[in-house]
Amino acid sequence: MCASPSHPPPDLAARLRQLRDRHLYRRRRVLDSPQGAEIEVDGERLLAFCSNDYLGLANHPDIVAAFQRGAGRYGVGAGASHLVSGHSAAHHALEEELADFVGSPRALLFSTGYMANLGVVGALLDRHAVLFEDKLNHASLIDAARLSQATVKRYAHADVVRLARLFEAHAGDAMIVTDGVFSMDGDLAPLPELTALARRRGSWLLVDDAHGLGVVGARGRGSFEHYGIARGPADLLVGTLGKAFGSFGAFVAGSEEVIETLIQDARTYIYTTALPPAVAEATRAALKLVQTEDWRRDALRTLIERFRRGAAGLGLRLGSSATPIQPILLGEARAALAASESLRRDGILVTAIRPPTVPAGGARLRVTLSAAHREEHVDRLLDALARIPGAG
Ligand code: PMP
Repeated sequence: MCASPSHPPPDLAARLRQLRDRHLYRRRRVLDSPQGAEIEVDGERLLAFCSNDYLGLANHPDIVAAFQRGAGRYGVGAGASHLVSGHSAAHHALEEELADFVGSPRALLFSTGYMANLGVVGALLDRHAVLFEDKLNHASLIDAARLSQATVKRYAHADVVRLARLFEAHAGDAMIVTDGVFSMDGDLAPLPELTALARRRGSWLLVDDAHGLGVVGARGRGSFEHYGIARGPADLLVGTLGKAFGSFGAFVAGSEEVIETLIQDARTYIYTTALPPAVAEATRAALKLVQTEDWRRDALRTLIERFRRGAAGLGLRLGSSATPIQPILLGEARAALAASESLRRDGILVTAIRPPTVPAGGARLRVTLSAAHREEHVDRLLDALARIPGAG
């Protein structure tokens, strides 16, 4: 006989219905091609403006070949965590090359940017510390705060005056945490002010440059390079490798002591399988292209300017972004979905970004540009945007 449960399970169907009613239901599209300007999605060929493949490297032949060679040499899986027997020569070489690229004494690979953020905050802050977070920080930084035992204080986006006040009011060990380039808005964090504030007290500054690395700064070294700031021993850089590098994974760059501390104490480093070594080999090939092919950043800049000029001419509400992330602000989730559907009818894919990824009333089309695009692609997008009723 089967005993009936004393409590019914949570009513998931009701919650899913509610999400649909509020235009907040998310569904996945099935991709059947590599990333690129044009992709095959759900059986349709679409011009796409929503990947983070900013430099157009995700399907580059040199990187694909390096990945294949890596698989031939190391097999598929790392087979163990870094501290057991999974740390290969490919990982080791990539760490040295990344440290050299960003100008830090050391770099440490993590399997994802999400894990890097959780790992660093958890390893460096104890329950006596205070963590200061920009309210628009990426979910992984917010979750790092949730997991950490430190006291968490959030400040309004880029509000350095408010942050300074909060900072003065809390003595003791502290860390300021920010996106370098904000993932849904494309604007840059006020790093000169944040650096000055953190240095006043010898506090940590953690910059998650997932969307800046490879893209901003004359040599693609990210937000610190953009501002001409030399990192000190308490300035930490998180870079992700699944965006401009077209590969996968992430790293933390910092001092010898920081990296050795992370190896000892970062739980998301210790208790997880190392990246496949072939991915590390692919990333090494990507790093060479990031360093040698400045034309990709130049092309991107030209496309960004062309898009912004055209979109402003259409009266669209843009963010104040000079990066490949170009949000078009529409307000309500329903409006963002309708705009995305209208573009799709014109053969263009731009995803609608809705709460909770962005604040309520902040739904938008998040247009991202890539060096893989050509000027005529941007013009096609602008023509299609002009046809969206009520967007301008
Ligand atoms: N930080 C930021 C700002 C991001 O946008 C993302 C990914 N969207 C991450 C971290 C997570 O990186 P990963 O995809 O490597 O986990």
